[in-house]
Amino acid sequence: PSITRGVTVEIPKVSWEDIGGLNNLKKKLQQAVEWPIKHSAAFARLGISPMRGILLHGPPGCSKTTLAKAAAHAAQASFFSLSGAELYSMYVGEGEALLRNTFRRARLAAPSIIFFDEADVVAAKRGGSSRNSTAVGERLLSTLLTEMDGLEQAKGILVLAATNRPHAIDAALMRPGRFDLVLYVPPPDLEARYEILCVHTRNMKISGDVDLRRIAEDTELFTGAELEGLCREAGIVALRENISATIVCNHHFQTVKESLKPALTREEIE
Ligand code: ATP
Repeated sequence: PSITRGVTVEIPKVSWEDIGGLNNLKKKLQQAVEWPIKHSAAFARLGISPMRGILLHGPPGCSKTTLAKAAAHAAQASFFSLSGAELYSMYVGEGEALLRNTFRRARLAAPSIIFFDEADVVAAKRGGSSRNSTAVGERLLSTLLTEMDGLEQAKGILVLAATNRPHAIDAALMRPGRFDLVLYVPPPDLEARYEILCVHTRNMKISGDVDLRRIAEDTELFTGAELEGLCREAGIVALRENISATIVCNHHFQTVKESLKPALTREEIE
């Protein structure tokens, strides 16, 4: 990927199959992202304006970023990634310039998806009491709104924003024509945990005594990121035990699982 200060551009390689669970969500996203990009002429024919923004919210480590990348991959769209926190920390005026520049480049590279991580940092409620409702935050937010409103004529550009704090987002962004679709990305349920474990052991040599269903049952509240870490760590434990190991066994998974505690608590799940 080419990197220009704070922005990376690429067509991501990750696909829907690399994401365990979330089947309904994947379908909704597929429709919301692929249709306007692949069938923009049909939208124009019927005189309907395609969606401009989608907000993904949910706990950290549950695949918001990965979903946005898979959507871009499916639509063969250029993927521009921006971080709200990074924009916020820039010198006065630089954050706005980067925002405008990213939208400009996305128009040139269309079809494009602009992924906005930690959106609440930039799109925090105006006039609120949080640390972000400052002059810097307000200028960034108004630049973002201007750019999103300007997308009307642009074809094949979609903004996907992610946040763990949807309630902190300014209401102006939630108006129709801005973030038209709000999707909750939940932590994985039993079936999703099993599928995530399958995805992340796909390329590993694992012994027949590893029961992924059983591990899925024993990892309630684990996020996708934590399950991915569990698989990787199990491999490392096997190597630590014997650097010539050729296979990862059940006891390696168990050792790691016992040492891990999920970061999420039941109360945090919406
Ligand atoms: P954050 O809010 O911290 O940015 P996020 O919700 O965007 O987190 P990702 O960055 O997409 O989460 O996921 C983190 C890692 O966890 C990724 O490397 C991804 O492979 C893995 N992961 C998370 N959920 C899943 C899933 N459903 N299937 C497969 N892998 C997953």
